[in-house]
Amino acid sequence: MSESLLQINDVASLQARCQQWRDAGERIAFVPTMGNLHEGHLQLVDLAKAKADRCIVSIFVNPTQFGPDEDFDKYPRTLEKDCELLKARGADLIFLPTVSDLYGDNISSDIHVPEELSNKLCAENRPGHFDGVATIVAKLLEAVKPNVAIFGNKDYQQVQVIQWLVKHLELKIKIIGAPIVREDDGLAMSSRNQYLTRAERQQASRLHQVLECIADGLIAGRRDFSDLEAEAAKVLNKTGWQVDYVQILDPNLAPPREKGRDFMILAAANLGVPRLIDNLRCIISAKSKNRK
Ligand code: AMP
Repeated sequence: MSESLLQINDVASLQARCQQWRDAGERIAFVPTMGNLHEGHLQLVDLAKAKADRCIVSIFVNPTQFGPDEDFDKYPRTLEKDCELLKARGADLIFLPTVSDLYGDNISSDIHVPEELSNKLCAENRPGHFDGVATIVAKLLEAVKPNVAIFGNKDYQQVQVIQWLVKHLELKIKIIGAPIVREDDGLAMSSRNQYLTRAERQQASRLHQVLECIADGLIAGRRDFSDLEAEAAKVLNKTGWQVDYVQILDPNLAPPREKGRDFMILAAANLGVPRLIDNLRCIISAKSKNRK
C-alpha cells in the first residue's frame, strides 16, 4: 500500500510527476472518476494497481457531460472521504483539476463521437453527453499519458466511446473495461443510488432482475428480441419506473443477429429522481451458458 496519497491540482505539476515516474521506468494506470467514491470505483483502483506500478485517480465533475436539466450542481461531492478511501486502497495520486484548468474559458465539447455510437441508448435522451465524456477523457489522457486506463463496464456505452476515442486520437493507451460491482441484491453500485428513497431502494434491484430474465429467455432459445425487451419494459413501468430503454444488442452495440451467441442486454430507467443504468452480457456456447 502507498504510504501517502499525493494530491495534485494542476496539469503542469501532474505532468512533471508522471514524467518522473516514467523516467524511473514505472508504468502508470489511470482511473478517471467524478468522485463520491464507492466500492465500484475502488475495485477499478485495485485493478489499476494490479496492472501498473503507479495508480492515479482523478476526481472531476465534468460540466460538459451534464444536460441542462441534470444534476451537475447537486452531484454529490465528498472529497475528504474520497481521499481517505483512496489512501486506504493504496492509490498513489489524486488529481483534482478545476474547470478552468481543463477548459480555460471555453466550456464546450470539441470532440464529436460518431453517429454509430451517438444515435442510440444513453445518447438518445442525453444529447451531447458522450461528446462531453470524450472531450474530458481526451484532456485527462493527454495530461496523464498513462499506459493503461480503467473504466467500469457499468457504463458500457461509455467504454465503447473511449475505445473509439483512443483509436481516433491514435493513443497508445490500453483501455480496460472492468466488471460491474453490485450490491448484495444485484443493484449496480452508483453514486446516484443515494438519491433513492427507502421504498425506491427496495425496488431498485428490479432493473438487474429484468436483465436476468431476458438472459434466461435468450439462453432458452428465444430470439424475439423486441418482445423480450417489451416484456421487461412493461414489468418496470408497472412497478414505478419510467423506462428510457431496454435493448438487446451485440457487444459492439450493433443490432443482434438471430444466430448470434453473444449478446449485451442494456437498460436505463428513472426510479423517482435518479436515472439508473445497468447491463448484462449473455454469452451462449454449446458447452457453457454464462452471463456477466
Ligand atoms: P463515475 O464517477 O460515476 O463517473 O464513474 C467513474 C468510473 O467508475 C466509470 O468508469 C464507471 O463506469 C465506474 N463505475 C461506477 N460504478 C461502477 C460499478 N458499480 N462497477 C464498476 N465500475 C463502476
